[in-house]
Amino acid sequence: MLALGDLQEPGANELALKWHPEGDNAGILAAGEPVNASQRFEEDELVPATLVVRVADWLQNQLFPDSTVSPTDARPVCPGHDHPLQARVLYDVAWWFCRTSNSPIRLIGES
Ligand SMILES: [Zn+2]
Repeated sequence: MLALGDLQEPGANELALKWHPEGDNAGILAAGEPVNASQRFEEDELVPATLVVRVADWLQNQLFPDSTVSPTDARPVCPGHDHPLQARVLYDVAWWFCRTSNSPIRLIGES
């Protein structure tokens, strides 16, 4: 899960994630133990970057919902500020964006 690696900086949390595949191009991602949230992702109608951004965004919301309250929980943290980076698509490529400067910081999954 390439987006998940980015969310484990600066330190790894105990993460309970489970992927329930539905064939080759879809599945349900469940978070928490016991499961407290799940989301269905389907590859078919999306460009790959959009899927990566959707997964990264959902993971960020499920695993670190309070990161705007506590800067130390910001994952992944913006190198220039103390807010979390935001997953966005730019020219069909999945990026982590700084929401303050509105600029791409680095590719998702490429630490
Ligand atoms: Zn920033």
